[in-house]
Amino acid sequence: MTTDIPEAAARLATLRDQIDRAARLTQRSADDINLIAVSKTQPAEAILPLIHAGQRVFGENRVQESQDKWPALREQFSDLTLHLVGQLQSNKAADAVALFDVIHSLDRLSLLTALAKAMDAAGKRLPCFIQVNIGAEEQKGGCPIADVPALIAAARDADIPLLGLMCVPPADMEPAPYFALLAKMAREEGLPRLSMGMSGDFETALMLGATDIRVGTALFGERAPVSRPVPRSGLGMIKNAPAR
Ligand SMILES: *Cc1c(COP(=O)(O)O)cnc(C)c1O
Repeated sequence: MTTDIPEAAARLATLRDQIDRAARLTQRSADDINLIAVSKTQPAEAILPLIHAGQRVFGENRVQESQDKWPALREQFSDLTLHLVGQLQSNKAADAVALFDVIHSLDRLSLLTALAKAMDAAGKRLPCFIQVNIGAEEQKGGCPIADVPALIAAARDADIPLLGLMCVPPADMEPAPYFALLAKMAREEGLPRLSMGMSGDFETALMLGATDIRVGTALFGERAPVSRPVPRSGLGMIKNAPAR
């Protein structure tokens, strides 16, 4: 891999500076801001330099990929924390509960039921964020805004510890209004944390109260494109779709 240790350390230091500045501007301590290094598609050789540079919190978006990568890394480094930031199928709930420490993508009642069952079976409670489909995008995961209060109530009933709300604003749109809306919803529900902001918009997210930012590209560099069918006439539509 191309990411050597000094380079990873430099990227991490730059990001930490940016987080510090945003924390000061919003009168917070940088210690209250959780940087999740999103390592999806990155092999262990790319992750290790960041661990050696001091990063301990990582995020992945696929259960299977994480099962292949993280048990060995966790064995080597006992103080890592792993967040699931991607869509979760109900039939993978038990696997997710076994592997992850925090789930950011609780977005529907059927998944809530599966997670509660898996947590009961495992004898542990995983803190969760409720993912909100903040831009009302049909193809995107996340709970519809109107259904969020009911999902929060159901999570509280099922004894699932809720940290806050998570969102991914629509691509190619100014993200600030979406971040502000998520912050307002969390405030109204008495939820303390906001998982919002990626490489391209984390500073905006921090200005609007993000407590958990999910950063991949700014730490690891561009991800290799995942091969998938490209419709001949659809190039413009997928050009800015988030890489998987
Ligand atoms: C990939 C991904 C990120 C990180 O995106 P970057 O633009 O590479 O920082 C954050 N959140 C989710 C849900 C993701 O899938």
